[in-house]
This record gives sequence, C-alpha cells and structure tokens, in this order.
Amino acid sequence: AEIWQEVPLAPPDSIFKLTAAYKEDKFKDKVNLGVGAYRDDNSKPWVLPVVKKATSILLNDETLDHEYLPITGLAEYTSAAAKLILGADSPAVKAGRVSSVQTISGTGANHLGALFLSRFYQFNGKKQVFLSNPTWINHYAILRNVGIEPVEYPYYDPKTIGLDFEGFINSLKSAPERSVFLIHACAHNPTGVDPTQEQWKAIAEVIKEKKHYSFFDSAYQGFASGDLDKDAWAVRYFVEQGLPLLVCQSFAKNAGLYGERVGALHIVPPDAETANRVKSQLSVLQRSEISNPPAHGARLVSLILNDAGLFEEWKRDIRTMAGRIIDMRNELHRQLTEVLHTPGSWDHILQQIGMFSFTGLNPAQSQKLIDEAHIYLTQNGRISMAGLNSHNVEYVARSIDGVVR
Ligand code: PLP
Repeated sequence: AEIWQEVPLAPPDSIFKLTAAYKEDKFKDKVNLGVGAYRDDNSKPWVLPVVKKATSILLNDETLDHEYLPITGLAEYTSAAAKLILGADSPAVKAGRVSSVQTISGTGANHLGALFLSRFYQFNGKKQVFLSNPTWINHYAILRNVGIEPVEYPYYDPKTIGLDFEGFINSLKSAPERSVFLIHACAHNPTGVDPTQEQWKAIAEVIKEKKHYSFFDSAYQGFASGDLDKDAWAVRYFVEQGLPLLVCQSFAKNAGLYGERVGALHIVPPDAETANRVKSQLSVLQRSEISNPPAHGARLVSLILNDAGLFEEWKRDIRTMAGRIIDMRNELHRQLTEVLHTPGSWDHILQQIGMFSFTGLNPAQSQKLIDEAHIYLTQNGRISMAGLNSHNVEYVARSIDGVVR
C-alpha cells in the first residue's frame, strides 16, 4: 500500500463534537452546557478588563520586540507565577527550591511534567501514574504519549454524588511506595468535587508515609472560590508538609487567556541544589519540544502579577467570574428544589465547586436533554456552570425536571 493510505480515521474529540452539534442546532433557546470556558450573562466570551488594560500597556511599550524568550520562559513571569500558586512567603520559594518553566498553558505543563517523570522519576518497577476516576480526559493521552501507563484511583462516588474519600485513601495506602498520584489542586474536572481541608490533611499524611509523589494539576486557581489563596490551599499545605511535588499551572481560565497558551510547570524538590539540576533537565527537554515558549501571554500575566494595582484589578475580575458561577449554582438549585420540587436531592450542586458540576443525570437522561430540550452536555451528566445565565437557568431547570420525572 502507498504510504499513509492505511492511516485510520480518528474519532473527533467528544467535546468539540458536542460544540459542533450545538452550533448547527437552529433552536432559538438552545443551551451549551458543554463549554469549558467562561461565558458572561449573555453567553459571550469575556475579555477581562485587567487584560484589556495590560494589553494596551504592552501595545504602547516601545522597548518590546519579537525576539525569542529564554528556553525556560520569561523569568519575571515564572517567578511571579510560582509565588501565586505556592504563596508569596512559601518556604520553598524562600529556600530557592522551586524549578519553574513557562509552558504551553496547562496542557503543556502536564506534558512537560509527564515527560520529566518518564525520564527521571525512579518509578517503582512500573512506569505508571495514578489518575482520579474520573479525570480530565486528556490526562490519559498525555501520559500515554510519553510511555507512562495511566492507572485509576477511586475518587467519585455516584451514590453520594460526592467524594469517595475512603476509596481514595485506601488506594493511596495500597499503591506501591513512591507511586505518582495526579491530583486536581481545586475545582476537580469533571466532577466539581473537592476534598475538604480535613480530608486533604489525611491525604497528605498517607502520601508522606508511603513516600508518594504528588503531581498537582492547577487549572482553576481563583476560579473555584473567587479567592486565589483559598484555591491554592492544598498545594501550599503539601509544600508546608515537606512533600516533594510538581504543579501544573494554567492562566487560561482565571485570566481568560485561553488562546494565549500561558502556563507554567513548577517542580518543588527537597533542596535548592536538586532544584537547580531539575531545571537544567527541564530546559533540555523544553528545547527539543518547543525551543522557546510564546511571549505575549507571559508578558500580559507578568504585568498583572508584578503590578500591585493591576493585581488588585485582576482579583476583582476573578471575583466577577467566580461570583457569577456561584450565583448560577444557587439559582439552579433554588429552581429545582423550591420552585419545581424536582425528585431527588440536588444539594451536590451547591457543594460542588468551580466551572463544572456532575448533575447525577445518567447517559439516557443527558441524551434526552440534548434531543428534546436542545441543551448540550456530555454523556456523563457534567454541566458547565458557565453556560448557565439569568436568561436560561429557568429553562434548564425545567428541562432537567422533565427528564428525571
Ligand atoms: N487540567 C485540567 C484539569 C483542565 O480542566 C484543563 C482545561 O480544561 C487543563 C488542565 C488545561 O487547559 P489549558 O491547556 O487550556 O491551560
């Protein structure tokens, strides 16, 4: 056969397929609850006012050029980004034991982190990383791409539509010593279910006992609660406990910079000397992957993080986004419980956090919402709170009520 003629056709990405179906739908009141991006109350993308301001500052900066950034990225960006996630007075930052590299958003951070582990982590015989069941679907492919086998740990309990804390703890205990656990720092995607602080403490304790390694994915800092510090609590607690870890950071959601691809990977080893060697290897890996990260998004975020006034404005913008999402949770819950008296318990909608909510709807009910109500969501019953607004929340609640009765 001719070269490439036997390449099989790959299936389309399920989320992008859902968006395409939504776009084709001619129904006037259609709703897209599949989107993984923030929308304002009129279903429109939102450019953060602070980003507009930072953009105009950059446009007027005559000193900027289009030269390459260093391989590991813009230094004033990566160091400010490290302080943002680890805390301005983090013991790790103070001790100079954080290796930070600018990456192609959170996806690139996950990739570089996985690649680093595949090369340098002393896996216990098997090259595997534990993933929460369920998790962001891309985690599987990112690990497999670098020859790491994904294995699942229990996380979500469909009976309670909440955390399977016991299952999680038991699998931390039964995994071989020095295993790697990929953990969502906050606003777990797709469930919206996070451990409480007490539960995080217990999780950290077992991780310490078993010498496991934590691979944090932080894609939603600030977006979950509206408070950057609160959403970084687990990562900072693990660092305080002296646990070695790795954090993937994205500014896609919390700065609305989806297309700019601005992220970072931070590796926190036990001492500065190791951090230095780790960074040298990250630099070698990055060189062959992307050579140099893109400049514009990093410059924007660097301006915002390093200027006290802009930083305050950003925090206000984050509160605007998180606040609207929290309002939608409250309103959807109120409609289902107080207005419609929909059968079942819906309190999980209030307990879950961040952009996504596992509604507890089964695949048949989810499909019915698409087919009969023109409300688009994934088969697993996950809805994006960002797709709800004051104009459609009542319609969505009535439609959910219709498919569960
Ligand atoms: N990790 C998780 C858990 C996510 O939900 C996402 C985005 O949906 C990402 C990482 C990466 O996003 P990005 O590459 O756009 O920063």
